[in-house]
Amino acid sequence: MSASSPAPSVGGCQCGAVRFAVAEPPCIVYVCHCRKCRKQSASAFGISVIVPRAALQVTQGTPAHWSCAGDSGRIFDSAFCPTCGTRLWHAGEGNATISIKGGSLDEPPTLEDAVHIWVSRKLPGVIIPDGARQFPEEPDDD
Ligand SMILES: [Zn+2]
Ligand SMILES: [Zn+2]
Repeated sequence: MSASSPAPSVGGCQCGAVRFAVAEPPCIVYVCHCRKCRKQSASAFGISVIVPRAALQVTQGTPAHWSCAGDSGRIFDSAFCPTCGTRLWHAGEGNATISIKGGSLDEPPTLEDAVHIWVSRKLPGVIIPDGARQFPEEPDDD
């Protein structure tokens, strides 16, 4: 029942073939309501847990990779389990940080302080908590 869970945290795919450890706590957590995150997660929104790239270590198995261009035109490398297909993280070309898919963590992050982005694409019926930071698209502090 501690308010902040201590690093490192661990996670993995649904079948357990790929496991990883994250040595540092999240810099920030985004809930992204964009269409790409909806497709990628096959759900209502994506949860992006941003950590320094060097903090991520694969501890079991070998993820498969798939790359696509983000809205910015930059290439994002996606890692997923080759057996069960669970998406595990996204790495933007040249980024010092990496985006862990929140649901893959054994102890998922709290969304109480999450920043909601692409709220303009949010599904009807998804309720954002009062006071949560939110942006109609992406914040421009990139
Ligand atoms: Zn798997
Ligand atoms: Zn998104």
